Amino acid sequence: MTGPTVMKFGGTSVEDAAAFERVAAIVAARMEMRPVVVVSAMARFTDALVAAVRQAAAGEPAEAAASLDEHLHRHAAVVRALIPAAARQELVDELEAARHTLADLLRIIAAHPGTRPPLHDEVVSFGERLSSLLVAAVLRARGLPGRWVDARRCVRTTAAHTRAEPLMDATRAATRAEAGPLLGAGEIPVLGGFIGAAENGATTTLGRGGSDYSAALVGAALDAGEIQIWTDVTGFLTADPRVVPHALQIPRLSYAEAAELAFFGAKVLHPRTIQPAVAQHIPVRVCNSRDPGAEGTWIEDQSEPSPRAVKAIAHKTGTTLVQVTAARMLGAYGFLRAFFEVFERHRASVDVVATSEVSISASLDDPAALPALIPDLERLGTVGVEEGNAIVCVVGEGLGASPGVAGEVFGAIRDVNVRMISQGASRINLTFVVGQDRVREVVRRLHATFFEE
Ligand code: ADP
Ligand code: ASP
Ligand code: MG
Repeated sequence: MTGPTVMKFGGTSVEDAAAFERVAAIVAARMEMRPVVVVSAMARFTDALVAAVRQAAAGEPAEAAASLDEHLHRHAAVVRALIPAAARQELVDELEAARHTLADLLRIIAAHPGTRPPLHDEVVSFGERLSSLLVAAVLRARGLPGRWVDARRCVRTTAAHTRAEPLMDATRAATRAEAGPLLGAGEIPVLGGFIGAAENGATTTLGRGGSDYSAALVGAALDAGEIQIWTDVTGFLTADPRVVPHALQIPRLSYAEAAELAFFGAKVLHPRTIQPAVAQHIPVRVCNSRDPGAEGTWIEDQSEPSPRAVKAIAHKTGTTLVQVTAARMLGAYGFLRAFFEVFERHRASVDVVATSEVSISASLDDPAALPALIPDLERLGTVGVEEGNAIVCVVGEGLGASPGVAGEVFGAIRDVNVRMISQGASRINLTFVVGQDRVREVVRRLHATFFEE
């Protein structure tokens, strides 16, 4: 028997009662695929929970708790619309209990600011805990055998709150123990994405957008036949549709292409999602919950090169460049090692690197680490920092074998100051840094060059 199918529904795919109904219809039409449902928090709820934690820490726990009411009401509205009276009370009680627990947690955060990261995850986890309870109930209301599973009993992680790392072996064993018997009995396990638990039982989260990653972890654990990411666009597009509204659908991507695009800003997939799928060659498909008949994008081991080598363009803003010009005593070898050791020590991850005989530049997407990094880097040489940049990444299998592409890329933006250029070792991407104020224009011009001529 082929493995089950993980179906992950993002926040906009569960934004209101109509969206929950679409989810139920999608699952109902695919029962022969043995669905396992992974679901995000209702749209905008995670943002509200994160903001509430911040407000509580700033000394306003009552206001923070009150700010969540409208979102709890949205959950209640789904219950009223879709759950028959007999099953309603249980959910109404859950929502009421959540309201009290959240208010208590926010009060504790205000009183003991030192406990913030673990409590942050505890608060934020309510988004996925409640949405998954509702999905399971909506499936049952439709006569489908939906069964809620506490994701924290499946996804086991390190204790690095707000950006926990999954523990693969423990997650595999726990997920199989929890979901396996349900699948065996013909039921549909329904679990929240994004959340997990550390070895001491504390609730953890995988980083924003992490429900995609959860879906891949659960899929790998259950030897799934396919991992479906249901969202609000029909698969990967040739550029971010918020910048290029007429971007085109991409039928197929290789794992490597999708991973590069996700890493360099294509928000449609969390950057880590591909890793668990690759190891087991599980196809990942990105589909539109508002257009379930469309094929979406298939992501698999291989994809065919596109005629002009470029498959898509990704970009991300908020990039900071750090440059160190070496002090003369250091040989090049010792200098590079020392430079990267500083980043490793401060757990700051670098996206693009460029070196010359006497200097090295790196791009950082999280400037939070900078104040700690700079004094250490100053021991190596003169440090320069420049904020307000953006990374653009042009991706496609076959890029490395198409020497003309770089000329076309930089020809199309010849009046734009390009700060750093790097061709990935995988030779499927060409990545460069430009000023943030020009990035939308750069993406549009490259899109016109490769997809509109
Ligand atoms: P979900 O809540 O379902 O996880 P996200 O908002 O995280 O959805 O991701 C979907 C969004 O990703 C799209 O609405 C789109 O605005 C954005 N996006 C950015 N780049 C791309 C791309 N190359 N292809 C498709 N969508 C993209
Ligand atoms: N709800 C979480 C977030 O908004 C995780 C996710 O939706 O993927 O970041
Ligand atoms: Mg997402």
